[in-house]
Amino acid sequence: MDIRITLSQNKKEKYTDESTLGFGKIFTDHMFEVSYNTEKGWHDAQIVPYHRLSLDPASSVLHYAQEIFEGLKAYRTDNDEILLFRAKDNCARLNRSAQRLCMPEIDIDFNFNAIKTLVDIERDWVPRSDGSSLYIRPTMIANDEALGVKAASNYLYYIICSPSGAYYKDGLKPINIKVEDKYVRAVRGGTGEAKTGGNYAASIKAGEEAAKQGFSQVLWLDGEEMKYVEEVGAMNMMFVIDNKIVTPKLNGSILPGITRDSVLTIARDMGITVEERRVAVEELIDAGRSGRLTEAFGTGTAAVISPVGMLAYKDEQIIINNRKIGELSMTLYNTLTGIQRGRIKDKFGWITVV
Ligand SMILES: *Cc1c(COP(=O)(O)O)cnc(C)c1O
Repeated sequence: MDIRITLSQNKKEKYTDESTLGFGKIFTDHMFEVSYNTEKGWHDAQIVPYHRLSLDPASSVLHYAQEIFEGLKAYRTDNDEILLFRAKDNCARLNRSAQRLCMPEIDIDFNFNAIKTLVDIERDWVPRSDGSSLYIRPTMIANDEALGVKAASNYLYYIICSPSGAYYKDGLKPINIKVEDKYVRAVRGGTGEAKTGGNYAASIKAGEEAAKQGFSQVLWLDGEEMKYVEEVGAMNMMFVIDNKIVTPKLNGSILPGITRDSVLTIARDMGITVEERRVAVEELIDAGRSGRLTEAFGTGTAAVISPVGMLAYKDEQIIINNRKIGELSMTLYNTLTGIQRGRIKDKFGWITVV
């Protein structure tokens, strides 16, 4: 399927100060879109000026949340090349989310080419300062104009891009996390493994309550026993215990992060022992009390690595590494961001030049 391209005749004014970009607030001049129905399959692929969508008030996504998305980044190198990081893995994960939500899959090579073509057109929008990037948000929505509860017959898939500033303006800052002991994010057999908006809708209340108590994220426990650690908001979690990286094993209710996989791959390559297994919150508290928990950090596309300085569980607070970023967290952050920015050789085959 060819992509029809209509360039904007009315370009937006570009940002002038990268330090004010923030995250996901402004969008580029164009977007990709393609439609699906059960008779024609995917059809009418095009890149067009960024525009509002027109949806019927009965549109199925607005009622029953049949929606999936992805998040990835394009980076500018010191030589002004534009690089995509593991974009095909995002395309593959979108299809796994699609299966879980009964939505149509998209050919991985076609989707990858759509992302690459759009980013190429928007290359002037990719910021250059350290830590900045062009955030790419592929999204699929169900769009039947009827209220029956069933898998829809009509879908829209689109990709938008947002120049984003450095996540950490003043260097990596350890965050305070609350182990959530009242609400759960996902349950066995649910949609925890899929990147779908509904998971986020279900998580907002816990996040709001934690924010009121001064925490920036909640650490979710398993939905069955509330005993084992799963992940935080939009990040997977890793702990350094006895110099080993310990991380919850993918169990069906944890989102399989591409940053998680990248960090584990780099760590193993550095000769660090990695344990993917069930991690009980009690084990973390014990390791914290005895000083064996030396580092903790979240991994995700937005922040790459987000060090944790304090973990609160019920009435206990565990301070990690005196609330300073750990040595291993820093090394992993520098290595991964170095590969993403083209400053460190990519021996894993993760980079595509646009
Ligand atoms: C996207 C996401 C992550 C991180 O995945 P990356 O591919 O590393 O960005 C982790 N948890 C949840 C719930 C997510 O939605």
